[in-house]
Amino acid sequence: MEWWLSMPKVELHAHLNGSIRDSTLLEVARTLGEKGIIDFSDVEHVIMKNDRSLREVFKLFDLIHILTTDHATVTRIAKEVIEDFAAENVVYLELRTTPKRNDSIGMSKRSYMEAVLKGLKAVSSVDIAFIPYNEDATSLIRSLPTNVECNGATRKKIYVRLLLSIDRRETTTAAMETVMLALEMRHLGVVGIDLSGNPVVGEWITYLPALKFAKEQGLCVTLHCGEVPNPKEIQEMLDFLPQRIGHACYFQKEDWEKLKSSNIPVEICLTSNIRTASIQSIEVHHFVDLYKEKHPLVLCTDDSGVFSTSLSKEYKYAASSFGLGKMEMFELAKNAIEYIFADGSVKNDLRAIFASETKKLN
Ligand code: 5GP
Repeated sequence: MEWWLSMPKVELHAHLNGSIRDSTLLEVARTLGEKGIIDFSDVEHVIMKNDRSLREVFKLFDLIHILTTDHATVTRIAKEVIEDFAAENVVYLELRTTPKRNDSIGMSKRSYMEAVLKGLKAVSSVDIAFIPYNEDATSLIRSLPTNVECNGATRKKIYVRLLLSIDRRETTTAAMETVMLALEMRHLGVVGIDLSGNPVVGEWITYLPALKFAKEQGLCVTLHCGEVPNPKEIQEMLDFLPQRIGHACYFQKEDWEKLKSSNIPVEICLTSNIRTASIQSIEVHHFVDLYKEKHPLVLCTDDSGVFSTSLSKEYKYAASSFGLGKMEMFELAKNAIEYIFADGSVKNDLRAIFASETKKLN
C-alpha cells in the first residue's frame, strides 16, 4: 500500500455535506427524480461537474441540501463519511456540519444533530469512539491495537468529534441557538463551533456574540477566514483569537504578521483552494511559507465529495508539489494531534498510535 494511504492521518476540516460519496448523491437524486420532486437530468451533470468556482460551490451546496436534508439521509451520509475516512487510515476526524431546521418535515437543529449521531452509532465496519468519557467505547477502542486483524480482515479504528457550523446566512439568534445546542451536546462528542458558509454573505458582527459566548463556555472555535479579500474582517477574526482558522487565502502582510505572532493553527485545504481558484497555482500556495516557518498547520480535505479528493490524496499532493518525503509528511500528520479540539486523553491515545507507526517506519 502507498505510504499516503497507509499512514495514520488526522482530519480537522471536513464538512459533512461536502464529503458525500458521488454514488450516494446520485442515488438520492435519482430517487427524488422518480418521485417527481426534482428533475434528475438537470441535477446529474451538476453533481458530476469537477471544476467549480467558489460561487458555483455554494450553488451546489444548496442543491445538496435539497437532496440530503431529511433525517434518514443525514444518518446515512454521516455513517458513510466516517467509514470512508476510516478506510484511508484517518485515525481522528473532526466532522463539522450545520444543524438545519426544516419545519415542513419536522426537523429541528437538535433532531438534525440526533440524525448525525444515529449515523455515528450505525458505523459497524470500523471501531468508532465518539463519546468522550464513555467507558465502553473507550475501553473497546483502547483494547485494540491499530488495524487489528479480526476474522482475517483488518479492522480500522477512528476517533470522531463533532463541530457545529454557523452558516454566514444565519442571524445572531440562530447562531446562538447553534452554540446552545453544541453546549447541550458536549457529552455526545461535540467539541467546538465553526463559522462557514458563503464568504461574501453576512457580517462578522452578526456572529460575534455567539462566538464569544461559545469561547467563554469553553467550546473551541474555528473560523473560515480570508477566503475572499476582506481585510477588515480578517483582522477582526484574528483579533478574536480563534483556536484554529481555515484557508487564509487572501491574507496581506499585516494578516500574516498577526497570524504568526498569535500562533493560530491553519487548516490547509490544497485541492479546494486550487479548484475554487482562491489560490492561483499550487506553487504559490501559502503552505510553503507556513511550513518553512514551522507555523502550526494541518492538511485537510474541506469537501472530499465536492472536490473529488481524500486526505490521502491531499498528503500525496503536498508531497509531490512541495518536494516533501514520507518522513516529513508523517511528522506533519503527527503534529496535527496538537491542534485537535478533543481532550488530552485522546491526544495521548493518538500519540501512542503514531509512536507505534514510527517504529514500523524505521
Ligand atoms: P454541512 O454544514 O451542510 O454539513 O456542509 C456544507 C456546508 O458547509 C455548506 O453549505 C457551507 O455552509 C459550508 N462549507 C463547505 N465548504 C465550504 C468552504 O469551502 N468554505 C466555506 N466558507 N463554507 C463551506
